[in-house]
Amino acid sequence: MTAFTFNIAGIKWPGATARIYIGMPGSSPSGTSWRDGLARAANEWTDKTPFNFVVDQTYRNPCQGYTASGPNDDFNNGDGDGRNGADFSSTVCGNAYGDNTLAVTLIYTESNLLGGFDITEADIVFNANTRFDIYDGPLVDQSRGIDFGRVALHEMGHVIGMSHEQGSASIMRATIGNLFTLQPDDIEGATTLYTGYTNCPVTSIDFGRVSGALSGGDCSVKQLVGGGSDDSLVDTYEFTLAQSTSVSIGMSSSSLDSVLVLMDASSRVLDVDDDSGAGCDARISKTLAAGTYAVLANTFAEGSECGDTVGPYQITMSYQSSVLLERGRNTSLQGSVSNARFAGAVKAKNKSTYSNIVKPSEFFDVEGRITVDAQHQGQLGFIVVAGILDSGEILLRNSAGQFIPYDGQGGFTKASTKVLTALESVSILGNTRASDLGLNDIEVNFLIGYGVNSKPSELYFHSAPINLVVTP
Ligand SMILES: [Zn+2]
Repeated sequence: MTAFTFNIAGIKWPGATARIYIGMPGSSPSGTSWRDGLARAANEWTDKTPFNFVVDQTYRNPCQGYTASGPNDDFNNGDGDGRNGADFSSTVCGNAYGDNTLAVTLIYTESNLLGGFDITEADIVFNANTRFDIYDGPLVDQSRGIDFGRVALHEMGHVIGMSHEQGSASIMRATIGNLFTLQPDDIEGATTLYTGYTNCPVTSIDFGRVSGALSGGDCSVKQLVGGGSDDSLVDTYEFTLAQSTSVSIGMSSSSLDSVLVLMDASSRVLDVDDDSGAGCDARISKTLAAGTYAVLANTFAEGSECGDTVGPYQITMSYQSSVLLERGRNTSLQGSVSNARFAGAVKAKNKSTYSNIVKPSEFFDVEGRITVDAQHQGQLGFIVVAGILDSGEILLRNSAGQFIPYDGQGGFTKASTKVLTALESVSILGNTRASDLGLNDIEVNFLIGYGVNSKPSELYFHSAPINLVVTP
């Protein structure tokens, strides 16, 4: 199946930003330059919505690269020039204006990874046959001419991909009126269009496995993207990478036809996958820069031979790395602040790179590294290693290397006691093989931490665990 369920009718700019060239010459009868009118309109959208206009003082002809192909066709006529220009023109770049049309925004798009469309260029032509001025307050068209400012504000809304609001008090209403600033409906519309994945509830994930289910009442793609007609269900997950990492994300289900979407923090779609995993499962593998990303667990709006539209699924997130991974921001049991840093990773003995996924038959190590806060270096202290099982049970490593259940009471078991150095290497598990322990399929999340003997009940550790998944 090649048709993606993720249909975006609401066209938009990838990354929620566009450069607008405002250098059109001349000034209004009341003295304000047209370029200031354009800049004010662009900045109001930038200030009040998630969209960001980069205002460029250069002049660009809005009709450059436009090929007139017929009246009332404002989309994709010719190649454009890749610049978002604005100017007066007595025609819509060669076509007649419609009756009472004050301005037209010409939109150029290209298809994107989701089968929807990204805006690549948008130009504004203002009807040169109209008498314009620039002023706030009620529209007084007979005496002063039409206020250019609110027309520019409306057209900038089209530039960012908004269509007309129906019957509401808004700048994006189809007819001009006494309103001259963005209204709550305008701001809400642009926010929904550009807030992207945070339109839906977001769950934090990290390396390892997470189970979920798509079911009625979940967010739909239509809600997530702020438009379109795609009613397929979607769960939204977010993860943060502290360093550039090669990541693989798999979605599997015995009932759903899995679809994965990977977005960056600006809701820019980086990849979409339907069937790259086993059978009908989805898989995305990519090297990602440090930053925050969203994974959308999605399916199709209608069932297929590959599965249903609702049901349980599992997401597995793994890494391949030549270095230990930084493991989140630091934290402490009692709230002391430190500059300690923590890293860790799993490495199978027969592999050249770290990865959190190992087979039951593979020997592997789990390695940790603590960058001890400068104020703690040289002090007598201790290292603590914890393993958290699927069941929620916590085990602490003792000085003999055994993992002992932690009862949550009293002091914690110490893996070692020592004078702390700047960099502490921590062997969490060494030369271990799951099959020797009778384990075939298990997930463990490890945490490492340290303390100083002068403050024995405080422990410095990290927010993102060191994940291990043993799976056949
Ligand atoms: Zn309009």
